[in-house]
Amino acid sequence: MRRAFFLLKIKNNNMYYNENTTVYLNGKWLKASEAKTDLYTQTLHYGNGVFEGIRAYDTEDGVQIFKAKEHFERLLYSAKKMHINLNLSVEEMIQITSELLEKNKLKDAYIRPLVYLGANMSLQPTEEVNVFFCAWEWGKYLGDNLLNVMTSSYQRPNPKSCHVEAKVVGHYTNSILATTEAKQKGFDEALLLDASGNVAEGPGANFFYEKDGKLFTCPLGNVLPGITRATVFELAKELKFEVEEKYFTPEDVKNADGAFFTGTAAEVAGIGSLDHVKFQMDWEDTMGYTLARMYRNRVAKRECQQFELV
Ligand code: PMP
Repeated sequence: MRRAFFLLKIKNNNMYYNENTTVYLNGKWLKASEAKTDLYTQTLHYGNGVFEGIRAYDTEDGVQIFKAKEHFERLLYSAKKMHINLNLSVEEMIQITSELLEKNKLKDAYIRPLVYLGANMSLQPTEEVNVFFCAWEWGKYLGDNLLNVMTSSYQRPNPKSCHVEAKVVGHYTNSILATTEAKQKGFDEALLLDASGNVAEGPGANFFYEKDGKLFTCPLGNVLPGITRATVFELAKELKFEVEEKYFTPEDVKNADGAFFTGTAAEVAGIGSLDHVKFQMDWEDTMGYTLARMYRNRVAKRECQQFELV
């Protein structure tokens, strides 16, 4: 037991922080290993907290936080929906992020702002609000290989039971269950349906498929309104690729030419099959592949090499 704990600790330390890592906590810059929290926080017990996942890229114009404004606006929206009084402006949060990257000498980084609450064992709003920012180097979340995906037995949370469009800590128990089920069955990732049996999204990414030269994704309502999803809409427009928002089933997807996930951590990640049914086109020939390359170039600001992999 002691040994297992030790190994786990080393693994986590290596990945997210080490003895030199600096984090932001409630207006102070602290060593990650010295930052402390209250064990009675409502966030730990009941999952009421909000967060963001943002990436910074080392571009030709220096380190750029991709769509920082959009991420912090979503964080403020999520906080409001959960009755959390987050007293920082978008500009202040961008400033904190820039300092965080500088202090940790990070260029290509994943940034995690977390807004968590003070001690409160009741189910009422909490006055004490804590703001924590950390960052680490993180490769593409779902890797670079084509993903074998399964239709999850878990649905996305019903939008009538929670604010599914907000990035709330507790919602991620649903994501953890879906990914765990998929991995245990030998798949790389899960695809979750909504309460009506239509395809919604992945555990941490939005979903698109391609059929006969057109892209499809579900409308907003049952999913997180992804910032990468919105970026893909922009890129598709530039490329004159048609995108339609409509409801569709896993059976429609199994007939597709190609498919991909979109998310800040995953970027644009190609999918090879759903429930072992392979898509009809080679990934390299799909619109998704072109969008994946264009996305990489957009985030790294290498517009002139639009069709070069960065
Ligand atoms: N859906 C869920 C459930 C997510 O966790 C994420 C990651 N934030 C996304 C979609 C993609 O959102 P974004 O492109 O803003 O990262």
